Amino acid sequence: MTTTADPTRPVEQARRLHTEIPGPHSRDLQQRRAATVAGGVGSVLPVYVTRASGGVLVDVDGNSLIDLGSGIAVTNVGNSAPEVVDAVRQQVADFTHTCFMTTPYENYLRVCEELAELTPGTHDKRSVLFNSGAEAVENAVKIARHATGRHAVVAFEHAYHGRTNLTMALTAKAMPYKHGFGPFAPEVYRVPMSYPARDGLTGPQAAHHALSRIDKQLGADSVAAVVIEPIQGEGGFIEPAPGFLPGIAEWCRDSGALLVADEIQTGFCRTGAWFASEHENVVPDLITTAKGIAGGMPLAAVTGRAEAMDAVHGGGLGGTYGGNPVACAAALATIEAMRERDLAGAAQEIEALVRPRLRALADRTDVVFDVRGRGAMLAIEFVRPGSSDPDPELTARIARRCHEQGVVVLTCGTHGNVIRLLPPLVIGHTLLDEGIRVLEAAVDEHAR
Ligand SMILES: *Cc1c(COP(=O)(O)O)cnc(C)c1O
Repeated sequence: MTTTADPTRPVEQARRLHTEIPGPHSRDLQQRRAATVAGGVGSVLPVYVTRASGGVLVDVDGNSLIDLGSGIAVTNVGNSAPEVVDAVRQQVADFTHTCFMTTPYENYLRVCEELAELTPGTHDKRSVLFNSGAEAVENAVKIARHATGRHAVVAFEHAYHGRTNLTMALTAKAMPYKHGFGPFAPEVYRVPMSYPARDGLTGPQAAHHALSRIDKQLGADSVAAVVIEPIQGEGGFIEPAPGFLPGIAEWCRDSGALLVADEIQTGFCRTGAWFASEHENVVPDLITTAKGIAGGMPLAAVTGRAEAMDAVHGGGLGGTYGGNPVACAAALATIEAMRERDLAGAAQEIEALVRPRLRALADRTDVVFDVRGRGAMLAIEFVRPGSSDPDPELTARIARRCHEQGVVVLTCGTHGNVIRLLPPLVIGHTLLDEGIRVLEAAVDEHAR
């Protein structure tokens, strides 16, 4: 019943709509889904995909959509990047799994070597590989507790760290991530995040504000880890004011707590550098990565100071699939492609093209409260006209209009009033320009 495109032909890098979005075949599948897929799983835009490449998603009705979401910052290197496809094919043919904890293989080591080389800091590092971002964050906390002998973990307002029990506790937003899923893991403490558009504080002031809370409520000597996204993802692409992250890092150094940078969304060239911590020369003790690391294959990692990582007893870390050989092969090909094609530079070019357009939107309407982000991680925050009150309904209408026009955009934010742009870093500039024009028209149409 579905339209199958010729799989031998490359995916044309153009937007083409043959039906309304979602089309009839997608709507049929969506009906079938309701009888078989758990209702708790959402889909932002229920068009069912058959192929994807570069910046284009092709659906079952033969429509080609512009991808400005990268499967939530995953396909940074492009969907089915040729280098990744080749590496995965080869690895699948060689062997699919042994379990690194049973009989190891070299590619796991090579991924850890790359992580040591690419992550901030020249200190001696060790890594351990997992399957998902949440699993990496959980393990970073395990390692920090073991290494420090302390229990308390500090997280920030608007934070997102995953959906397992411990990472739900670290995540700030109740609906949909936490509502009804408690009780949550104990010993997690939340402090204010620097949010320059709304708190009016400099970075050092905001850091002082957050840190004095920790000092008063916990005492510096009970904190195992401070977990922070250098630019927040799901929470609204909130970029702290300059000086905030260095202030937090300094406090961690002085108090013996480990600074855990959750770079799961910001990592792998997304913000115009390999990692967002680099923009302020922050060197985290532990860093969690996932999403963009392996071009769409599930892989995650914790990388950190050798002393902290190796504090854990042998056999204390692991998992059946962690560092699966196919995922490792994909990661090595992804990293190589990022280097060769200078995708950090590509992210900077995307910012140069898109940011002025978003700024202009802010200037000509009174519903844009803030334009922010870095590299190819950019966002617009929407408010009720002329106020600072979040407007999630308007945001949803604008996103829906983009979807109807065949442009995949995602929303985010504690109040659901932010449209975030996460295009694949390899997206062609003509295609990107067209996607932004659709977004501009949608904003102009809904905001006067
Ligand atoms: C997506 C995300 C996670 C969770 O990763 P999963 O692979 O979905 O478990 C954690 N932290 C940040 C910053 C993320 O963006």
